[in-house]
Amino acid sequence: MKKIWPPQDEVFWYLKRGSISPLTQNITVDVAIVGGGMAGLMAAQSFHERGKKVALLEQYYCGSGASGKSSGFITPNAELSLTDFTQRFGEQTAKNIWELFTRGVEDIRKNIKDHKLQCDYAPQDTLMLANDQTSLSRLKIEHDNLVKCGFKSSFFDASALNKYMGTSAYYGAVCSHDTFGITSYAYCQEMKKVLMENGVAIFEETPVTEIDDHVLKTAHALVTADHIVVSADRFIPDLGLLKQEIYHVQTFLLISQVLSDKEIRTIFPEQNYMVWDSELIYTYFRVTGEQRLLLGGGSLLTSYAAHAQHENKAMMKKLTSYFYQRFPQLNLQFEQMWPGLIGISKDIAPLAGSDKNKPHIYYISACAGLPIAAALGRYSAEHILDNRTDLDHCFTPYRNYPVSGFAQTILGNKISFALSHLIKSLGW
Ligand SMILES: Cc1cc2nc3c(=O)[nH]c(=O)nc-3n(C[C@H](O)[C@H](O)[C@H](O)COP(=O)(O)OP(=O)(O)OC[C@H]3O[C@@H](n4cnc5c(N)ncnc54)[C@H](O)[C@@H]3O)c2cc1C
Repeated sequence: MKKIWPPQDEVFWYLKRGSISPLTQNITVDVAIVGGGMAGLMAAQSFHERGKKVALLEQYYCGSGASGKSSGFITPNAELSLTDFTQRFGEQTAKNIWELFTRGVEDIRKNIKDHKLQCDYAPQDTLMLANDQTSLSRLKIEHDNLVKCGFKSSFFDASALNKYMGTSAYYGAVCSHDTFGITSYAYCQEMKKVLMENGVAIFEETPVTEIDDHVLKTAHALVTADHIVVSADRFIPDLGLLKQEIYHVQTFLLISQVLSDKEIRTIFPEQNYMVWDSELIYTYFRVTGEQRLLLGGGSLLTSYAAHAQHENKAMMKKLTSYFYQRFPQLNLQFEQMWPGLIGISKDIAPLAGSDKNKPHIYYISACAGLPIAAALGRYSAEHILDNRTDLDHCFTPYRNYPVSGFAQTILGNKISFALSHLIKSLGW
């Protein structure tokens, strides 16, 4: 039995925070953005690059939502695969969606390079690992679809995978290339500085309390805007908006002390990968640029909890046991552990689109992935300024869901979302 010291319940990266400037007087802008996560920051950048006067309002500080708590895998793969999108929308639309998400990856990379952002950028390919033979067959289909649509992908059976993973616990993997890891909190904070230097007005500690037509109300002042992008992810229902369409799922992260090169090569004998497995509630890990192990995951019981669960010892045990079953030679010290809530829709696909009654209000939510949030931040500007509409039908918040309306009112959000996800995962 390994001795495990309880880690501090704290988001590791929040220990470093820059200065904050709240909104204190009324302003008028072309575009007001609510939320300073990956989606809001990319939306602000996109509108600003097109010559618009932009103000971003963030209730705490940039990156304080899911974007700053995340494990920073930057890959187009998230909750839904290319195969999932193909089944829903056909091959060509799925390909267009994947291109959009891949562009999200490249936009983040471009910002890191162009602005020399200090965010622990670590180029690493991604392995989606099969826990059993059935999952491996599913991953082979995903690989074939990726290749057919012109995306780079490699397929490893168990013996090929042995070269790359220091465990024989998995049945094989699909490898996505040109992906990378970042400290996404640092990315948000660095991008905030870049955008402010370039003339974007960013007000932190400025919660929007109400959106009344073209006016956003905050504690001390009003913002009037031609267009409003509400990129507040799982918090959008708190504004009385999209209350049936958005909920959250919970995941947990552990971060270890710095690993030695030898310890890292025990996990990844050749080179570092960002990995996650094929369970419905998956476990994931990667080595950060500063050589710490990030280990994350959840469980069915904790996923739909109403609030973030701190100091969840059972989850710490579950995650560390998972890791040590695969790498019994290691004995790591974990420094911090924290929960995070990720905005999610009922069919797991992201939401992006205009309000049905007030088209000057545009929502972005349930991205469940940083590159997707970035991609939809950019898409919002393309939709509003260039009339881009080709993927609107895929992301509209007003689509048909497995459970909604009266049934959802009776069941409540927690059960309705869990049930909808089950229905979708079974392919019904
Ligand atoms: C633990 C964890 C690990 C994850 N790992 C990964 C990963 O490795 N890779 C990946 O791609 N994705 C990952 N994700 C998912 C990813 O982080 C999110 O999908 C993404 O960050 C969502 O970005 P966002 O901008 O839409 O939302 P957020 O980052 O949540 O931003 C929304 C912002 O709006 C602000 N806000 C809310 N209400 C108001 C208001 N009324 N007024 C003003 N501001 C408001 C919030 O404070 C918040 O900062 C992870 C998430 C978590 C929690």
